[in-house]
Amino acid sequence: MTQLTRRKFIRITRSAILGSAAVAGSSLIMSRPGESAIGADGKTGNSSDEMVIPSYCDVCFMGCGINVTVKNGRAVKIEGNPVHPISRGKLCPRGTGGLGQLYDPDRLKTPLMRVSEDKFKEVSWDEALGFIAEKMKKIKEDYGPESLALLKHGKGADQFVKLWHDLGSKTEGHPSYAQCRGSRDAGWSLTFGKNPGGIERAALDKAEVVAFIGAHLGENMHNVTVQDYTTGLRNGARHIVVDPRFSVAAGKAKYWLPIKPGADIALLLAWMHVLIYEDLYDFEFVEEHTIGFEQLQSHVELTTPEWAATYTGLDAEDIRNTARELGEAVPNAFIFPGRRFAWYGDDTQRARAMAIINALLGAWGSETGIYLGDRIRIPKFPFPESHHEAAHALDVKYKYPLGQSTPVQDIIEASIPGRLKGGWQNAPVKGWLVYSTNLVRAVPNPEIIAEAAQHLDLLVVVETMPSEITGFADVVLPDTTYLERFDIMNAPEWKEPFVSIRQPVVKPLYQSKPGWWIARKLADKLGLGEAFNYDNFREVIEYQLNQLGSSIKDINSKGGVLKKEFEEPTMRFRTPSRKVELFSRQMLRAGYDPMPRYLKHPEPANGFYRLLYGRVPQHTFSRTTNNSMLMEVYPENRVWVHPDIAAVHNLKDGDYVVLKNQKGVRSNRVKVFVTKRIRQDCVYLPHGFGRTDRRLTRGFEVGADDNELLTEYKLDPITGSTGSQVNCVTFV
Ligand code: SF4
Repeated sequence: MTQLTRRKFIRITRSAILGSAAVAGSSLIMSRPGESAIGADGKTGNSSDEMVIPSYCDVCFMGCGINVTVKNGRAVKIEGNPVHPISRGKLCPRGTGGLGQLYDPDRLKTPLMRVSEDKFKEVSWDEALGFIAEKMKKIKEDYGPESLALLKHGKGADQFVKLWHDLGSKTEGHPSYAQCRGSRDAGWSLTFGKNPGGIERAALDKAEVVAFIGAHLGENMHNVTVQDYTTGLRNGARHIVVDPRFSVAAGKAKYWLPIKPGADIALLLAWMHVLIYEDLYDFEFVEEHTIGFEQLQSHVELTTPEWAATYTGLDAEDIRNTARELGEAVPNAFIFPGRRFAWYGDDTQRARAMAIINALLGAWGSETGIYLGDRIRIPKFPFPESHHEAAHALDVKYKYPLGQSTPVQDIIEASIPGRLKGGWQNAPVKGWLVYSTNLVRAVPNPEIIAEAAQHLDLLVVVETMPSEITGFADVVLPDTTYLERFDIMNAPEWKEPFVSIRQPVVKPLYQSKPGWWIARKLADKLGLGEAFNYDNFREVIEYQLNQLGSSIKDINSKGGVLKKEFEEPTMRFRTPSRKVELFSRQMLRAGYDPMPRYLKHPEPANGFYRLLYGRVPQHTFSRTTNNSMLMEVYPENRVWVHPDIAAVHNLKDGDYVVLKNQKGVRSNRVKVFVTKRIRQDCVYLPHGFGRTDRRLTRGFEVGADDNELLTEYKLDPITGSTGSQVNCVTFV
């Protein structure tokens, strides 16, 4: 058996991959039984006719319904599915550009196994899975099953989760928890007993007034959310945008509050002050549904607009007027929940502050606010009962009693002996399976991944594309794209309850295999094959649809979507008090502030500027920064710099600069965008560029990567979210 060597991430070149007879012919399109795509009429996507096959998109998490036109076995066009509630016939640019992902010639084509520090060889699936299974068995035997960690993203990971549980491990994490929604969802759940939803249940189309705190819709192109947002604007909604940057959303707003970065809680406390002390809150909602109003009232007695002005850099009158704008529109006003929430380490408290204001506005459960959704429950497939009590390498509830998942950062640290302090580690982490997440670009302080990799006995990466994390792997397995596989169906809680199907529209290219197939075959090799009582995941989908009175053929004839009538749910609060908790006793008991408090964050050093990061409409971060169709419309990122700061550093619009952070870490060169649309104390860089894997022919070294400059983060003690806007840069 091949011995693992200490791995070193190098900018892998094509020559770093050795060919092998085992995968001869790997560039051919491979066919395999049961994987043919099915059109609405039951024909397959590989027949010679042109056909349209419904599915749902995976270029981001939103799950928009797509119709894919397939001709002679080749997908030629992706359009929005008009009967799908999440797309309504429209897609964002990334969804339309999904073909660039499918037909990217740089895709991973065969399983790869590391043979030396900087070389991989192509191997057969059998050899790759056999090797992984032996390593996993050894780790399980030596350290326990919980020493195997699953780090994942997206729907394709579902069968790996099952495999992990069958194996006896609950050690799993997804970067989106600590970076994106974890602190937001915790803050809302601590207040209302429920979060605002993966696809936010926010009535942007119906509200009169909406406030956005650092949420830049229009650059963030979450399809249906943007559709509702633009409908609201057309209907005359008044928006308040709080952002150090004049975003696209700020350009459409009645008010732009260019807040000093890190001072959001001060602003929110001042808004609470005005709403309460000017009697502009929803008296009935507060009376009927909340507890802790008196405590909140005295908590914000002194947090006046004048008080907040000193911290936020905003005008006190603007703070007061925007609070009034919200309060005078009760109950048709709300604060949008936002995403990518980990900024300064007090993020759960910021989410609490936003949730509390929404309670004061009576927005929760209102059809013009954060409405209650309905959903279709997908029936369970009759998998055999697992005999294992799955264990976790970390005592997460001890460290984060009010958290809802495991921060990936902690799993990474648990892989480095002696790194995690506090005695809450039950077992060492010795093996990772990384599914569909480029950790090096998704987790701050990426250096730690290199360190952890030195201590692992096994690192497997399942991906469609070469990416920075594949450079650390012992084994790389080529995943299919979302256009070549069945995945679990999508049935979110939403204003129009539905189920939609993801299915292959073409056969898998090269030697790629769907995640479910990889998990299932790995289970066979681990002696757990009986737990996977299907041959093809299609059987699981067929069974579930049958239970819903449908079938694959039937759902396809309905455009890939099943719907049901909306049933108004009862408003219930799953908090300990069964009320909306303005004052949180459970937070107090756990040792946290029961109401949000403003804490001042350190200022950038002289000559340094806070590094803010975000999105562009054409890309989903490093997931798409090699996609030919999307790179054509947005080829490289630019760093936004205020003209005054550009003058200080002698920079002109279009110049290339290198950014250097507070620790001296330097970025790739990046173009300067000189603009008054940003404050003087910060710069802004869209995320996902500056790729370092040479196999990416369009993304390699184009633009700069913000993530490598995020060498520090501030941990949110409530959830373990990693607040990363604490880093600052200057220009080289
Ligand atoms: S918002 Fe865009 S990328 Fe995301 S699922 Fe919808 S179409 Fe795809």
